[in-house]
Order: sequence, then structure tokens, then C-alpha cells
Amino acid sequence: MIAASLAAVSERIAAACRAAGRSPASVRLIAVSKAVSGDRLREALAAGLREFGESYVQEAAPKISALRDTAAVWHFIGPVQSNKTAQIGELFDWVHGIDRLKIAERLSAQRPPRLAALNTCVQVNISGEASKSGCSPPDALALCQAIVRLPRLRLRGLMAIPAPASDARSAFRELRLLFETLRAQGLELDTLSAGMSDDLEAAIAEGSTLVRVGGALFGPRSRPSSEFVS
Ligand SMILES: *Cc1c(COP(=O)(O)O)cnc(C)c1O
Repeated sequence: MIAASLAAVSERIAAACRAAGRSPASVRLIAVSKAVSGDRLREALAAGLREFGESYVQEAAPKISALRDTAAVWHFIGPVQSNKTAQIGELFDWVHGIDRLKIAERLSAQRPPRLAALNTCVQVNISGEASKSGCSPPDALALCQAIVRLPRLRLRGLMAIPAPASDARSAFRELRLLFETLRAQGLELDTLSAGMSDDLEAAIAEGSTLVRVGGALFGPRSRPSSEFVS
């Protein structure tokens, strides 16, 4: 049952916050719902979850329209391809994976006027892996400064996914230091999108304000999400 796993995840977040001397209210929980059916999302909404993360536009679109009558808030957490920006800009409230200006410009130009500015996080390639998406840390300042000037985006902060075999805590520390550097440069950032099922404690210890949790809430994903083409 989702209620039991939600209680367990909420307790992990609360314990990590206590250990870090932080308020549990300072961390928002995004339920990563890729490969989870719309029916189970209704159950998740009934259990008190409000914010959902999706990585594939094609998979997310029917779920978002099926749940249009609810208070669900939608986060796009996958890599953003330029031929998907119009759809992403129409469907989502947040985009976490922005790593180049061209994508940000397209999202800003295509965000429908009837909707509020799109909340955005810049993804940083904190572990320096060649294969991963994310801008390099030295490029983050210029990218953020350019995004702030785009009228239909609202820059909220940074996002990162540490490399699987890396020391997550030190990767999250590096992300936090970059976040603080950007804020010291005058950028008004309030969101550090970091931490998933296996490493949310390390992320919260290093200042995460938003954790993206899939497996620990919904169980192991039964079909590979790569089945969906983004
Ligand atoms: C799938 C995914 C998650 C959730 O991962 P879990 O290990 O299932 O908690 C979080 N963030 C991103 C970007 C993802 O793609």
C-alpha cells in the first residue's frame, strides 16, 4: 500500500532532517511516477502525495490529462530534448533537467501565456561523467544568469544525480557549495533538487530542499522505463 511506504519515506526524511538540525517542512517530496499507472497515482493522491516526477513526455501526457481534475503538480525530471520542449512547456509545472541555454530559450518561448512561468532547475554534472547530462559546474553561473533573463521561466535552483558508484555525500556537498556560490553572486535560488530512494539522507545532510523518490514509494519499477521513448 502506498500509505505505508509514504509513511516510511516521510519518517526517513524526518529523521534525516533531525540529524541535520533542519525542519522536515524544508524538504519537499516529489513522487517519481514513471512506470506507475494513473490509477495508482489516484491512490497516491488520496494518501496525500501532490507532486509527481516524470521522465518521459509520451508516458506522462496521458496521465497528466487523466488527472487534470486533481491538485497534482508535475515535475519533468528527464533529459529535455529540443523537439519535446513545446509539449513539456504545456504539460509541466517544473522542469529539473535544463543543461543548456538553447533548451531554456525554447521552453520560455513556448510556455503558454495562460500558464504561470515555468519553474526550472539547472542540472549540474557533479560527478563529471562524460555520458551524463548536466552542465559542468564552471558553466552553471553563466547559464543561470542567462535563464534569469528569460521571461517565461522562473529559475529556482540546481539539480544533480550523482554517478552510481560515486560517494553521494561528497557529490551533494559539491552541489551545495556551487548553490551557495551562485546565491552569493546574487541569484535568488531556493531549490536544491537532490536525493532519490537510495541516497536521500546524504542529500538532506547536504541541504537538499527537494527529493525525488520513486522505488521507495511505489516499489521496484516492473517494466523498464526505457521502453518509453522520450
Ligand atoms: C527515476 C528517477 C528518480 C527516482 O529514482 P528512485 O531510485 O526510484 O527513487 C529520481 N530522479 C530522476 C531524475 C529519475 O530519473
